[in-house]
Amino acid sequence: MSVTPSAALDLLPFDRAIQQPLGKQPVRVLQINLGKRCNLACTHCHVEAGPKRTEELTPEITQQLIEIIDRFPQLETVDLTGGAPEMNYGFRALVAAAFNAQKSIIVRSNLTIFFVEGFGDLPEFFAQHRVRVVASLPCYLAENVDQQRGSGVFDHSITALQRLNQLGYGRNPELQLDLVYNPPIPRDRTFTLPPAQSSLEQAYRQRLKADHNIDFNHLLTITNLPIGRTKLALQQRNLEDDYCQFLAQNFNANTLPGLMCLNQLSVDYRGYLYDCDFNQMEDIPARSPDGRMLTLADVLAANSLDLIATIQTDRHCYGCTAGSGSSCGGAIA
Ligand code: SF4
Ligand code: SF4
Repeated sequence: MSVTPSAALDLLPFDRAIQQPLGKQPVRVLQINLGKRCNLACTHCHVEAGPKRTEELTPEITQQLIEIIDRFPQLETVDLTGGAPEMNYGFRALVAAAFNAQKSIIVRSNLTIFFVEGFGDLPEFFAQHRVRVVASLPCYLAENVDQQRGSGVFDHSITALQRLNQLGYGRNPELQLDLVYNPPIPRDRTFTLPPAQSSLEQAYRQRLKADHNIDFNHLLTITNLPIGRTKLALQQRNLEDDYCQFLAQNFNANTLPGLMCLNQLSVDYRGYLYDCDFNQMEDIPARSPDGRMLTLADVLAANSLDLIATIQTDRHCYGCTAGSGSSCGGAIA
C-alpha cells in the first residue's frame, strides 16, 4: 500500500486515536535491556546495537535486578534483550536468578552469538535453565536474511537452530523455540505490514523442515517501528512521515487490550524504567509525579513494581497498533 507524500501533514496524534490514556496494569513481565553490545549491526536494529558499543549493565544494577526477581512473586516472566543480551554484563547471573525464582525466562538471541569465542556453550546453558529462545530469522531464504543482518548470518542461524533442535528445542515441550519475522525496511512509498502470522508460520515450517530439517514452536511477526536504525533509514529516504502515516491509516483499536506495555516494565542498563523497549530507545522514561526519572532503586524503596499509572505514548505506538498489531510476542489481534 502506498501513501501520498503530503499525507503525513495530517497525522492524528496517537493519544487522540486511542481516545483515552492507556492505564498500566499490574506488572507481570520484567524486560531487561542488558546493553548495546552485539556481534551484529543489523540495518533495522531499533537499539542501534553493534560490536563497537560498550554500554552494558553494571554489577550494582545487576544486583538490584536480582533482588527484584527474588522479591516479587507477581513477576511471571523475565525477558532478556539487548544488543545481544548474552554479550552484556550480568547475563548468566540474571538467567540463574530467574531460574531459581521459577520465573519463565525469555532470551532474545540472534543465534550467531553461538559462534563467537566464549559463547559456544550457550545452547546447553539455555536448555539447563529452560530458557525460551526467541530468535530473529527475518526470512527462510539466505539472501533476504543476509541482506538485512549481514553476510553469512543465515548459514550461522541455520546451524544454530539445528544445534538447538538436537538439544530438544522445538521438539521437547519444555524447550520452546520461537522465530521472529520482521519486514524489510521500506525503500520507497510502497509500505507493507507483516503478512498474516499463521500463514507465514506455516510457510516457515514447511521450508525450514524441507530444506534444513528444522523444527520450531511459533513464528512471531513484528512490525518495523519508526525508531532506531529503521528511523534513520526512513529519514535518509525521506520516508519517515509517510511511513508513520501508513501505520496510522492501519490503526486497529482491537490491538489495544493486547499491547505489551500494559503489564510490562522495561529497564535499561543504567537501571531506569520505561513502559517498553521502544519507549526506552525513544528516550521516553517513566517518571515520578514530580517529574524525576524512575529507577530500580525506586521499586526497591517502594517495595512495589507498580509505580507507573499511565503509559506514555507517541507516534511510534502506531507501529504496535497497525493491522494485526505487533509486540515482542508477535501479532496481537
Ligand atoms: S537487531 Fe538484534 S542482532 Fe541485530 S544488531 Fe540489533 S540487537 Fe544485534
Ligand atoms: S511503543 Fe508499543 S508497547 Fe511501547 S508504549 Fe507504545 S504502544 Fe505500548
